[in-house]
Amino acid sequence: MTTRIKHLYIHVPFCNGICYYCDFARRIYDEKLADKWLDRLEREIEENCHDQYETIYIGGGTPSCLSLKQSERLLRFIYPYASKAIEYTIEANPESLDSGKISLYKQYGVNRISLGVQSSNDILLKTLNRAHDFNTVKNKIRLLKDNSLTNISIDLMYSLPGQDMDILKNTLEDILKLDVPHLSLYSLTIEENSVFGKKGISSLDEDVEADMYELIDKVLNDNGYIHYEVSNFAKKDYESKHNMGYWKYEDFLGLSVGASGKMGNNRYTNTRDLNTYLSSDNIRIENLYLDKKEMMFENIMMSLRTIYGLNIKEFEEKYGVNIRETYKKGLKNRYIIIKDDHLICDNPEVLNNVLLDFMD
Ligand code: SF4
Repeated sequence: MTTRIKHLYIHVPFCNGICYYCDFARRIYDEKLADKWLDRLEREIEENCHDQYETIYIGGGTPSCLSLKQSERLLRFIYPYASKAIEYTIEANPESLDSGKISLYKQYGVNRISLGVQSSNDILLKTLNRAHDFNTVKNKIRLLKDNSLTNISIDLMYSLPGQDMDILKNTLEDILKLDVPHLSLYSLTIEENSVFGKKGISSLDEDVEADMYELIDKVLNDNGYIHYEVSNFAKKDYESKHNMGYWKYEDFLGLSVGASGKMGNNRYTNTRDLNTYLSSDNIRIENLYLDKKEMMFENIMMSLRTIYGLNIKEFEEKYGVNIRETYKKGLKNRYIIIKDDHLICDNPEVLNNVLLDFMD
């Protein structure tokens, strides 16, 4: 029996430029290559999509760097599976988003935009090799709102080289003025294969990073955002439904270069190499079998990331266990509380340590 999958993710592996911190599966946009990628993706979609998805997320890379014609092809491929999508997100960068693409996205049912902003400080944006300035961000947010696309999420970064508490504070103030309902904030991780990694740039001191996290938490809470997941803040009812699927440990289909997916006890990852993706029928480089113990742990690990926590009844039914018996040590951890039959970690900053008590 095949179970219905509710979530679809598609990775667009092209960007207009390469940010210095980035180690994702992406390369510089090339029109001909993007056409070939679309040909291959069409086949992958035909072979793998069998459901009407509740959430669809087109991420990357930079989906908005595709031409209008290519964007239309992409959305047309997905269209037969999107009629029941309650949340349909596309990622965009400010410099490549325009009114033509916004109208097209809307026409195909996209109802949420995730915009890569990172900072409001233009010097910092240059340090990261981002292609936009903050004025462009303001203009594009206005354009989205003028086109009634108001369900907007903004990605920001902190703990950046050259960023201090004042710069972060100013960015938060600038972002609050944009009045968008969802914000994701990620601290910089120096990836070995990124330009920063190769140049030997290091992250900020751990204590500074912790102070920045605290500042973000306070400022956003004071301004009506709910800190609903370790790195995510939303106005009431604007939590990311697609990401909530990951955090509830639901199955999802991931397509294209570098994407991964999970179906029951199988988790797979596609090749990160675009040439292999284009030329091979066998694009899955990893097919992992997860046993029950691993799945239960991953389920707990993902669910404790949100303030809603883990639904104990659902968990016990799904795995046929008694959670209080199975995780005696974990339940004794002082940061774990049980509220309304949900297991909750009341301090996301220490989540990794808390999880150690669920590992035995
Ligand atoms: S951070 Fe985003 S926009 Fe920048 S290179 Fe990576 S995928 Fe592209």
